[in-house]
Amino acid sequence: MGFWLDIVVAAPAHSGITGPLTYESKSALSPGQLVRVPLGRREVLGVVWGLRSDAGSLSPGQSKSVLDVLEGLPALSANWQALIGFTANYYQRSVGEVALAALPPQLRELDALGLARRLKKAASSPLAPETMAQADRPALSAQQAQALELFEDTRRPALLFGATGSGKTEVYLRAAEELLQERPQAQVLMMVPEINLTPQLETRLRDRFAGLGPGAVVALHSGLTPAQRLKSWLAAHTGQARLILGTRMAVLASLPQLQLIVVDEEHDPSYKQQEGARYSARDLAVYRAHLESRSVADKAAGCRVMLGSATPSLETWQACLKGRYLRLDMPLRIGASGVGEGPEVRVLDMSKQAKGALLAPPLMQAIAERVSRGEQSLVFLNRRGYAPVLACHACGWKSQCPHCSAYRVFHKVDRSLRCHHCGYTEPVPRGCPDCGNVDITPVGRGTEQLEEQVAHLLSDLKRPDGSPVRVLRIDADSARGKGVLQARLAQVHAGHTDVLVGTQMVTKGHDFRHITLVAAVNPDSSLYSSDFRAPERLFALLMQAAGRAGRQAQHSATAQMWVQTFHPQHPLFDALRRHDYAGFAQEELHSRQSAGLPPFSHAALLRAEAASQELAQDFLRAAAQAAAQQVLPGADRVQLYPAVPMPLQRLANVERAQMLIESASRPALQQFMSAWQPVLAQLSSQHAFKRLMRWALDVDPLSI
Ligand code: ADP
Ligand code: ZN
Ligand code: ZN
Repeated sequence: MGFWLDIVVAAPAHSGITGPLTYESKSALSPGQLVRVPLGRREVLGVVWGLRSDAGSLSPGQSKSVLDVLEGLPALSANWQALIGFTANYYQRSVGEVALAALPPQLRELDALGLARRLKKAASSPLAPETMAQADRPALSAQQAQALELFEDTRRPALLFGATGSGKTEVYLRAAEELLQERPQAQVLMMVPEINLTPQLETRLRDRFAGLGPGAVVALHSGLTPAQRLKSWLAAHTGQARLILGTRMAVLASLPQLQLIVVDEEHDPSYKQQEGARYSARDLAVYRAHLESRSVADKAAGCRVMLGSATPSLETWQACLKGRYLRLDMPLRIGASGVGEGPEVRVLDMSKQAKGALLAPPLMQAIAERVSRGEQSLVFLNRRGYAPVLACHACGWKSQCPHCSAYRVFHKVDRSLRCHHCGYTEPVPRGCPDCGNVDITPVGRGTEQLEEQVAHLLSDLKRPDGSPVRVLRIDADSARGKGVLQARLAQVHAGHTDVLVGTQMVTKGHDFRHITLVAAVNPDSSLYSSDFRAPERLFALLMQAAGRAGRQAQHSATAQMWVQTFHPQHPLFDALRRHDYAGFAQEELHSRQSAGLPPFSHAALLRAEAASQELAQDFLRAAAQAAAQQVLPGADRVQLYPAVPMPLQRLANVERAQMLIESASRPALQQFMSAWQPVLAQLSSQHAFKRLMRWALDVDPLSI
């Protein structure tokens, strides 16, 4: 006589398994325990999701038995299960897929014995809790102290709306420190968009929290080896780790004593997962805090959440306006003496400049002045490579990627044509492949060309010590390879660079001390983009970039931000001149509201991929038709738009199409999608769609 259990496994998408499977076990198990079970002919990792009083509708012998129980491991908490359940339901994926994807991959390969060994190894480095060192913490600024005080008193999610350089990180650290000191079990999750861009942060956290003992601070992100990731995850799951620094994936980690979540740069698009369950880690952080607090009787316990940004997402801003979130303002930079500081913004009208100049003479002049004063400048352009297209003016040939609906970018360093979407790379042809013309030329500009031009234009200039000017480029190409990015950043920090040229990679987060001029070379393409979030993203980018200038108090008065544009009258630049995020947000929210766009409506995309665009769109149309015929719940309040090609229509020989689903009511949208999901699965298995490759729903997509 055994026990019946509901167990979730990562069933392959085509299996049609969406809910838990029933298994039999000889021993009594608890929900949240990890087991190994048979699935088809394989043996897989599963999570006990619930207990059953009987075999349900199964006839005896139909279910299978649990093979192994990973006994040394404490069960995953009910809150974790609830979080996974919510994520699966909200983002329209199976519980098993989300649950298993949230576990470290190496856990799948371990049997009970292997796991016991890992746990033993982890336990042999015991914690030696001491009181935390009080040394080398700066005295809080008045606005930092006030933000912390307000945060202390609220149970609402908080937005730390702090100008760049206002000292947001110190606020996060103090909030964490107070909690960890007060509650010896408590755990803190600190999320950042990309760990590689801020390698200093991890070191800083380890130093700051050294008093908690070895192993109390762990990192959790995709850059770790599978073994490291398992180790960090186990430390978090067993409660050994007190502070977890992670990227978006960390929001689904097992954290049984979680009491504070920080989401730094909450507006950053990289918090949105772009495959599988396409969750927003920021949104899940807010939900998770709510979930952890719901089950706690003690109002002082529970979990709080702090989102931080100088340029919050409009969703978060709207939540503050509505009073759902509490806003904590820090308008002043550390060391600043008055409001409204920040670099002076100069918007340069490119239609008044000589045609074809990459950098307008007044900007070059300003950069040259900085160089001779021994100050640094940062010039950025959101396009890497030398030129985005190579073209033949004799016959019109262009460096189209044969596999994508995109041009291959010309890279001069190795004279290659590279597709930035699928990676397809070829040497630059000697002549035009179509007509043989040897005079094929680059069109447009990338960072490589920018670097070349800046170096050329400054070649006659000397630094204060008489040595030649040094220009350094940092982008995904120049920073390839282990440690290269760090080394290049270190060069800038050490003052060995006069002009830093780069992509947006260098505009975010870095605490450069000697940069006094920042220039955006060509931001115009985002001004009139079809992507409704493009202005929001551009404004955030420019504000963040401006935040790199004049971070040292002595320079803050002379710091400048230059913008080259053909649309100097655009209202976005007006708001930028005033450093007025609130003003920008108000206008942008207003236009979103009149257009019925998020956050005033709720959206999802149904995407399809196939060998032909026609087939992909056929599937979407059939899906819409099926929804209409079956009168699905919620359908009366949901609008389906026509199927269209995706902005990047063809990627690596796959044709992609999408259909927008929109509703003013979140519950109606969710209800509709849940009912639609099985219809879609059924449809895709029909003969007509045998050659369809993939379909998926993207809830709250980044761009529509
Ligand atoms: P933000 O993240 O808001 O842009 P940072 O956290 O990078 O700002 O802080 C800007 C700089 O100010 C950093 O060099 C930081 O070490 C310093 N800083 C932060 N708080 C204080 C403080 N209370 N006193 C002195 N310096 C501080
Ligand atoms: Zn040609
Ligand atoms: Zn390609």
